[in-house]
Amino acid sequence: MPPCPICGRPAAPRQQNLAAPFCTPRCKLIDLGKWLNEEYRGPLPEGAEPDDESPSTAAHPNQEQA
Ligand SMILES: [Zn+2]
Repeated sequence: MPPCPICGRPAAPRQQNLAAPFCTPRCKLIDLGKWLNEEYRGPLPEGAEPDDESPSTAAHPNQEQA
């Protein structure tokens, strides 16, 4: 059994520990909070485009008239 990823203390196996792989439910909550924080603060994707003013429906009006 690996140690608790939050505090590094030995974590009891899952059979004896509802919070496994964390040592306590408290550490489990801390880990959950870290995940949520990272999602909120995460950097924007590189390909994210700023809001474009032009409507996509009228992007190429001449292409459909051959
Ligand atoms: Zn812990």
